[in-house]
Amino acid sequence: MRHEYKPITLVYKNYLTRFNGNTGRFVRTADIYTGEEAFSASFPELIDIGIMETCVCSKRCKVGCYQNAASRKGSNMSLANYKRLMDECSGRVMQVALGGAGDPDTHENFKEILEYSAKSNIVPNFTTSGICMNDEKAELCKEYCGAVAVSEHFADYTDKAVEILLKHKVKTNIHYVLNIDTIDLAIDILKGKEYRPGINAIVFLLYKPVGLGSLDKILKVDNPKVKEFFSLAGNHKCKCKIGFDSCSCSGLVNFSDKIDYTFMDFCEGGRFSMYISSDMKAYPCSFANQTESGFDISSSSIDDAWRSFDYFRNRLQRSCLDCKNRQNCMGGCPLLSSITLCNRKERTIERGLIENETENRLCNK
Ligand code: SF4
Ligand code: SF4
Repeated sequence: MRHEYKPITLVYKNYLTRFNGNTGRFVRTADIYTGEEAFSASFPELIDIGIMETCVCSKRCKVGCYQNAASRKGSNMSLANYKRLMDECSGRVMQVALGGAGDPDTHENFKEILEYSAKSNIVPNFTTSGICMNDEKAELCKEYCGAVAVSEHFADYTDKAVEILLKHKVKTNIHYVLNIDTIDLAIDILKGKEYRPGINAIVFLLYKPVGLGSLDKILKVDNPKVKEFFSLAGNHKCKCKIGFDSCSCSGLVNFSDKIDYTFMDFCEGGRFSMYISSDMKAYPCSFANQTESGFDISSSSIDDAWRSFDYFRNRLQRSCLDCKNRQNCMGGCPLLSSITLCNRKERTIERGLIENETENRLCNK
């Protein structure tokens, strides 16, 4: 039987958010005084929790892992630490995205993690390669999860995982990474090509050159396929819903004229979401663990970590001041300027934090 979540309403200084964990419906009002969209919350609405540090599937996985999971030696997040996070977040956070270096459904306490999240009235969601998905896990997902996303690896195990999840009536999304190898099929899908019948949504994620990812695969703004893909987004012919990660906002702003900006947000890192790794370090975004050692919350609070992210928010706030669309983009990704799909003259390109870090490392060699 499906767990019943209590709807949650959070009142901030000048606006409110409401989330129904049973339907996934989420609303955030504008500022009641200015009518503008809120820039950030006083506590994250969603936390990406990297419960995984060991990947038992790395030998079968067919993609270059952002987390370089196969080379990691640490331990998964303990159940005690996970419970501590939930206790701190209960009544303040609406949902969590479970992840890290490995598939969350292979965590030794997967069942207890889902149960404790639900007990805290926080909806757990996760992304998986699906390699180890089975009937028993799918039943747990159906009972507790908002949605499960299967990463599109174009592999037999992707097909099998989607089939199992759909058989158990789990709300199943596909996370489809957009790079130079996958954009052709993505265009065809938006034009109506049949693709994985029965899924709830395809969420397109912009490829990042981190971990085992490579610069050669990123999409560039002058690639005509980029324009074609994003221009189809507003009037696509997919049978399911489509979505984008907030990292894609520059592509949407520059190439989609039929998008309703009310439903769009730019990078949410450090504004409405954050990442906590298996060793209890907090970051404004999961990719920021490539650049910094993180804010250690093992002996301090999530509130303390959240307050420490001003350096990250400031990068967004000072970007592209003359751009008429900055309210929907804010300069793209603060970590990786190379993935931002924009060549407007108003763009002020600040080297991303990951690019800075890589350069420093090379200089210090
Ligand atoms: S920091 Fe970059 S990768 Fe992270 S959410 Fe923002 S845009 Fe995406
Ligand atoms: S100029 Fe900056 S804010 Fe405007 S669309 Fe380009 S990257 Fe985004």
